[in-house]
This record gives sequence, structure tokens and C-alpha cells, in this order.
Amino acid sequence: MIVYFIGTGGSEGIPAHLCTCETCEEARKLGFAQRKPSTLAIITKNKKAILIDVGTDIRDLLHVPLEGILLTHWHHDHIYGLYKLRWIAKKTRLYGPKGDADWLMIHDPKNIQVGFIKAGNMLKIDSLKITALKLNHQVETLGYLIEEDNKSVAVLYDTKGLPEETFKLLEKKKLRLAIVDATYAPGVDDPYHNNVDEGAETGLQLAERTMLSHISHKNLSFLKLDEYVRKKYNGKVLVAYDGMLFYV
Ligand SMILES: [Zn+2]
Ligand SMILES: [Zn+2]
Ligand SMILES: [Zn+2]
Repeated sequence: MIVYFIGTGGSEGIPAHLCTCETCEEARKLGFAQRKPSTLAIITKNKKAILIDVGTDIRDLLHVPLEGILLTHWHHDHIYGLYKLRWIAKKTRLYGPKGDADWLMIHDPKNIQVGFIKAGNMLKIDSLKITALKLNHQVETLGYLIEEDNKSVAVLYDTKGLPEETFKLLEKKKLRLAIVDATYAPGVDDPYHNNVDEGAETGLQLAERTMLSHISHKNLSFLKLDEYVRKKYNGKVLVAYDGMLFYV
């Protein structure tokens, strides 16, 4: 499978509108440092796609047959691309937690068929085996373990650390890749999100490679963050960017 990082930002995206912080100003100069809100596609070995969160309009970015959508939670930065995707030409299943489900997506989902799942539930979509995982966030939030043949990836945002049951389950899996919440700069303590080092350390304990994502404009600027992570973690931990591909 291939992981396609479509959006790697936090709620506000980078640059945040009219913000003049270092991160946002840098992103206006260097196009590659811009980040859309959280959106990820997994491309299966059969060249089918599933989306994990739709924080941005994906219609110009992904023309691969879409087999399903997984939502981590219903915060706006993970769902607002869904409002346009509702007009997709073919009925498409969406799975997500029940907590805080969006009114429009429940009452007028058009071609999206919304179904609720809980931590521990398993799904099969195309060649993927998917397990929903409990995360630590402000509202009910699911991470996902995604397995194809004997390769596995875990998507672990939005979260602060991991619940013990999730950590124990993933520990047994020898993950190829962990994609982990790293919303804030080193040293910042937030109740609902990791900082860069908390995200990196979670990933290092569980996976061969860690990709940090869900990056806020309050984090270090793009180039400083990349340098900090490369120096400290010797290439085992990387910072995702919009448009990046990872071959699992
Ligand atoms: Zn978020
Ligand atoms: Zn800013
Ligand atoms: Zn959230």
C-alpha cells in the first residue's frame, strides 16, 4: 500500500488566514511549507483508495476509485471536505465514531452512507484489514490500524499519548509506519494533543518509521521543525508534508 499525505496541518491550516507568525509567513514564501487540514489516502495494492479524514476538498487531488472513508472524529478540520464529497457519483461508505457526529452529514449525506463504529471493531475494505483504536482526545476519537498482507500502518491522531489498551495492541504488531499527532512545538503541554517529542517517542516505541503530522502553525516553522526532528531522531522519525508519499 501507499500512504498519500494530502493534508498534514492542524485546524487552522498553514498559513492561518492573515496570521503573521514565522510559520505562516514562511509558508507564504515557500509553497511546499503550506499545510491543509488532516486528510490522508491509503492506496491499496489493487489501486483503490480509502480516505482517512477529509479535512480539505480532495476532488482535484485524488481520482482513484474510492472504496470507503474512515473518520477519526467529527472536529471540523477532519470533516469539512466531506460537504463537497457528498455529491460523489457512487454511494460510498463512511465509518466513524458516534460522538459529536455532524448534523449535515447525518441528515443530508447525499451519496455518503454514514455508519458508526467503536474502538475494537474490525472492517475489511478492498485488500485492507482495519481495526479501530481508542485515542485520548477532547471528543470520542478513533485511531486506525491498517493491515495489508503482512504490512501494517497505524494512524494515531488527534491524541495526547495513547490509552494503554491501544498501546498494548499495537506493540504486538511490528508496525512498518506510525503516523502520529505532533500538533505542538517541543515542550508544549496540551491536554488533547502531543507535542513533537511526545509524538516521536510514541512512534519510536511502536514502529520502524514514524511520520509526524497534524502540525499547527504554533509549532516550529517548516524548515526548523524538519531540522529539529532529523537531528534528534536520526531519520527514524520524519515530519509529513502535503503531497508526500510513503511506500509501505
Ligand atoms: Zn484535528
Ligand atoms: Zn501563524
Ligand atoms: Zn480534534
